[in-house]
Formats: sequence, C-alpha cells, structure tokens
Amino acid sequence: MNSIRSRQVQIASRSDVGRVRSANQDVCGEFENADGYRLLVVADGMGGHQGGETASRLALETIGGIFERDFGAAETLLVRAFRAANDEIHRVGASDPALHGMGTTGVAILIGPSDEGWVAHVGDSRAYRLRDGRFDQITEDHSWVCEEVRQGRISAEEASVHPMRNVLLRSIGVGSEVDPSAAAIDLRSGDCFLLCSDGLWGELDDPAIAEVLARESPSSAAAELVDLANAHGGRDNVTVLVATVIDADEAPAIAMGVDGPTEGPAPSRSDSQPDAAALHAKCDSPGQRSIWTPPVVIAAVLVTVMALFWRLCA
Ligand code: CA
Repeated sequence: MNSIRSRQVQIASRSDVGRVRSANQDVCGEFENADGYRLLVVADGMGGHQGGETASRLALETIGGIFERDFGAAETLLVRAFRAANDEIHRVGASDPALHGMGTTGVAILIGPSDEGWVAHVGDSRAYRLRDGRFDQITEDHSWVCEEVRQGRISAEEASVHPMRNVLLRSIGVGSEVDPSAAAIDLRSGDCFLLCSDGLWGELDDPAIAEVLARESPSSAAAELVDLANAHGGRDNVTVLVATVIDADEAPAIAMGVDGPTEGPAPSRSDSQPDAAALHAKCDSPGQRSIWTPPVVIAAVLVTVMALFWRLCA
C-alpha cells in the first residue's frame, strides 16, 4: 500500500511548567522528512535546573539531528538516535562540572509513510495508543516499581503510591551507554498516539486520558490534558504530544476534530536487565530531580527501609 500522498498525520503538543515547579525541564518536538517519515519526541530532563533542561534539549536535538542527517534504515533509526543522544549528553555532562550527572528520559515514535511505525523509549516517559476505543500503554517504564510489578512482587495499585515510584532504572546520558527499548508498531487509519512525560500520567489515570483523546481533536486534547493535569495538582512539568493517523480519503469519517494535517510546534525547547549504574532517583520536591549521587544513595536506603516497612504493614 502506497499511502505517501494519502496519509495525514494530525499532530499537536503542549508543554507546561505545572503548578509547583519553577522551570520546565520537559521538551517535545516533531520532525518530518521528504520521504514521508514523521518523528515525534518527548524528553523529561533531570539533574538540577540547568542539567535537566540541558539534557532534555540535547536529547531532542540529537535524536532529531540523526533523523534529519543520518536516517539510514528506519528499523534501527530510533535506537541509533537514542544512543547518539546518550553519547552527547554524557560527553557534555562529563566536561562541565555544573552539568555532571545530568540525564533525561525519552520516548519517540517514528511514523512511516505506509503502515509501519516504530516506538522507542528510555525511562518513564510513555507512549499510548487509542485504537477502536481501546487505550493501551505501548511502552513499559524502566522504573523500579514497574520491575516489581512485572516480577509480581507488588500490584499496579501499590506501585502508583509506592515510595520508590520515582526511581528509574534507565535514563539517557547518565551512564556511558544506554539500552533503549524499541519495537515495531503497525499503523491503522484512526490510530491516536500519545507521548507524554510522567507529569501527565502521574496526575491522571488511563480512563481520564483516553476519554479526552477519544472526544477531542489533537490540539484540543493536548490543551485539555495539560489543563487537567494542572487541575489535579500540576506537581510536575507536564508534556503531551498527540498524533492521529488518518488516510486522507477516510478523514471526513474520523471524528477527530478539525485540526490540519500538522499543527505541531517546532522543537520547543532492545531490552536488557536494569543497569545498576544507571539507577536514578527522581525527587518529588518542586523543581528538583536529582540523580544517583551519595546523598541520594543514603536517601534511597532510607526510602528502601521505609518501603519494606510499608510493605509489611500493607
Ligand atoms: Ca517529570
């Protein structure tokens, strides 16, 4: 099927500092090439104000730069781009004491011109898909609680309130290497994809997110989701990128609003075992997300003891 001329991708995004933090360390962006490929990226930086902002910006620029200048095979593009981002962030962090140890999460979708797409991520920024009324998370967080759920040691409900819920097992740029999770995805007309930082899914549950995506156009959905996250507390930066895939000849039949083929902004600002060296702690305190350093190790030990106590009492 050659749908290069018939497929439309409606894209909209919104990134907001939230109600508590003083700086926005999230970024998002979209890219398009002459062959009809679209790249969508969300990154969520950590490592102090300057470090977090720098890391997420470098991730977006590097991943977008690989897409624009060194595309190669579509199947391997996202993994190569994430690894290039890791190299760049790690290199810059190692050369500047003020940025030492900075890192970022990242999630990206590559939408091909036909029916193929690819998704990749590192950390707990997520991708979801709404298809025929069914809303699925299509990435699996690289987080301590997600691993505990996977191993059957805690429930998803326990994970959502667990004191260790902000500990990441992988991130981009902190270690000298990164292992992105990547997978091929099929594309169908009417599919709606959502990329977001944890500032969204930490405030809203899946049914609330899905209801907005099913009801609104991408631009209205992006705005409403950010507003809802802020209304629920806005304790973190919140970033959403919504993309709906529509075959042009079916567009009138898709009830997804009146957004044009693209309305996204210019760039705004293979699984393995968790790498202990890349273990990160994301702090809930406003404006801060610190990375695995000696004080954080001490704090994490205390949190672990609390977690064990919490589990015994649960
Ligand atoms: Ca965040």
